[in-house]
Amino acid sequence: MKILVLNCGSSSVKYQLFDMQREEVMARGLVERIGITGSMLTHRPAGREKLVRETEIPDHKVAIRLCLEALTDSQWGVIKDYKEISAVGHRIVHGGTFPSAVLVNDSTKKAIAELEALAPLHNGPALRGIEACEAILPGTPQVTVFDTAFHQSMPDYAYTYSLPYELCKKYLIRRYGAHGTSHHYVALRAAELVGKPLNELKVITCHLGNGSSITAIKNGKSWDTSMGFTPLAGLTMGTRCGDIDPAIVTFLMEKEGLTPGEMDELMNRRSGVLGVSGLSSDFRDIEAAMDEGNERARLAWDIFVHTAKKYIGAYTAVLNGLDVLVFTAGLGENSPRAREAICRDMDYLGIKIDAAKNQVRGQEREITAPGARVRTFVIPTNEELMIARETLALL
Ligand code: AMP
Repeated sequence: MKILVLNCGSSSVKYQLFDMQREEVMARGLVERIGITGSMLTHRPAGREKLVRETEIPDHKVAIRLCLEALTDSQWGVIKDYKEISAVGHRIVHGGTFPSAVLVNDSTKKAIAELEALAPLHNGPALRGIEACEAILPGTPQVTVFDTAFHQSMPDYAYTYSLPYELCKKYLIRRYGAHGTSHHYVALRAAELVGKPLNELKVITCHLGNGSSITAIKNGKSWDTSMGFTPLAGLTMGTRCGDIDPAIVTFLMEKEGLTPGEMDELMNRRSGVLGVSGLSSDFRDIEAAMDEGNERARLAWDIFVHTAKKYIGAYTAVLNGLDVLVFTAGLGENSPRAREAICRDMDYLGIKIDAAKNQVRGQEREITAPGARVRTFVIPTNEELMIARETLALL
């Protein structure tokens, strides 16, 4: 069975075609700059040279048609006919209170459209991707897999904000979390590596990248997570501020005469590691600048490490202990320095990593120090495979 996984952004479409017999990627690709100049498709059939095609791509329908043409192309393709695709799995960033993946129908589409206000950059493009597939692949089942679904298991006291209850109900204000597909995937993989069912383990997963979140997992379910109503909450991120005193929002708006939109832009795009360092949102640049003695890069790094430590400590308390700690995503997978700094002086929780084993980048490895109670892993995330699995499971 072959499953196409689509991740539609506002100006891009990422795709992977899986052969689910062996859970292998047959081809993957990216359509960039949809609706703007310089649009192009990069298509990579597994084990073969890539195809780069520069052409006008005005909308998502044309983009998805191009992906399908590449997948069935006589030279670059990996299948002969669209009909070989058994289903399409769509990544949806905001699924509101959907607790699991669902088959696309009119009511799913209506719900995704209604949630656009909570994820304007993501849900609209995803909906356009679904509609394009309906037009190009009529009759092929489509499944939506939500980034928020894994976190729907949180208890009410973890997802409810202490604001006037009626207002929260009226505006659907609650903690939704994000990166759920990634947290779920690496937690399942860690359980496999430990050789125990996930529901028998207390796990903390750290998805650390440009956007970062940490999740506490108990009985195989998300128990709490650092992102909130939106992906702005929690850790300091590349350009996002993470947790701040909410009073700063009105204070700054008043002092600087900012509109809600301007304040939103300040917190989402001009804050975090970029805002503190004044240098870059990329942790590689921050690490390099620290080595050259840049004091603000050091401060941005230390804030990030400090908040990550706080979440791990808090979640260990919430879980009443910890069996497994996982690092994933761009920084979590690739920065031994970040993992070392976060895990330093955590031996009181049973966390201790081995300095030599920790020298790993982008590969799966256990990095636990001999004798440490908590088993710590680096596990590359694979959200696309998880989406393909959930799509298959629903079929
Ligand atoms: P992601 O959002 O998961 O793609 O992660 C992207 C971020 O990971 C980048 O902005 C970098 O800050 C970080 N990153 C990726 N590779 C490395 C590396 N080798 N060392 C340190 N940080 C890295």
